Amino acid sequence: MDEKFQRYVSEIDQGFGNTVEITGILCNIKSRYQRIKIYETANLGRLLMLDDIIQLTEFDEYAYQEMMTHPALLVHPNPEKVLIIGGGDGGVAREVARHKTVKHIDQCEIDGEVVELCRKYIPSTACGFDDKRMHLTIGDGLEFVKQRKNEYDVIIVDSTDPIGPGEVLFGREFYESVHAALKADGVVASQSESIFLYPDIVKRLYGFTRELFKYNGYAFIAVPTYPAGSIGVCVASKANPVKKPLRQMDEDLKKVLKYYTPEIHEAAFVLPAFTKPWFE
Ligand code: SAM
Repeated sequence: MDEKFQRYVSEIDQGFGNTVEITGILCNIKSRYQRIKIYETANLGRLLMLDDIIQLTEFDEYAYQEMMTHPALLVHPNPEKVLIIGGGDGGVAREVARHKTVKHIDQCEIDGEVVELCRKYIPSTACGFDDKRMHLTIGDGLEFVKQRKNEYDVIIVDSTDPIGPGEVLFGREFYESVHAALKADGVVASQSESIFLYPDIVKRLYGFTRELFKYNGYAFIAVPTYPAGSIGVCVASKANPVKKPLRQMDEDLKKVLKYYTPEIHEAAFVLPAFTKPWFE
């Protein structure tokens, strides 16, 4: 390898970070919204970074995508119409499409270049966009959801961190709009950061869902390549408890999943002692 070739990339967050050995760079462009880089790595498959923040590696993306999707869909009695906001890599769409009850998937992603580059370089997640139930809109998630009323069974917010274009997806106006866009038994699941790194964001998002929804909870997700090895998802429902699955998975779904099980669903909502006051 050329000695000048940078062999490692790092994400530093809150003063510490993860380092990944890379063997090549597949793209490095600045879109209208963010810098998009996709690397070939030595051991983790392909790696997507947006503004130097790790979004996924092929090695462990399933943990995040499955937990963003299946708890929410399995606490709804019959999810037919689903909206995904963000999620430009297609991984959440891939998981939603595994549910046979789902008849229609809308997705609103702000950055068309993320979608196109993932289609080209990370088809293992971008295959989610090929499903015939998928209707993709390129635009701002807040503007999209504000136009919808009483329309969706489930909304999944697969957003970047609350800096840049993702910032609006962490505000009260957005959560009020999501609530209005959901039907009477609707469920929302949103990327809610790590309890170790961003306690204030976790508390804020949990607070919005607690004010607006009858049932809610924060589920822990282990993702080795994210800073602190963890992230979380807030799941909230207008009508049904969220901390246990309401329905069983069908056999086809069970066979393909690598992280989610009904036991993981329940366990993920059991959190460390230091977080207890946040959720009282
Ligand atoms: N797994 C991820 C992580 O590490 O947090 C998130 C994955 S996904 C790539 C996040 C997507 O949210 C990005 O493609 C980004 O362009 C999109 N996004 C950010 N702000 C948005 C907005 N206001 N409306 C719609 N999509 C947005």
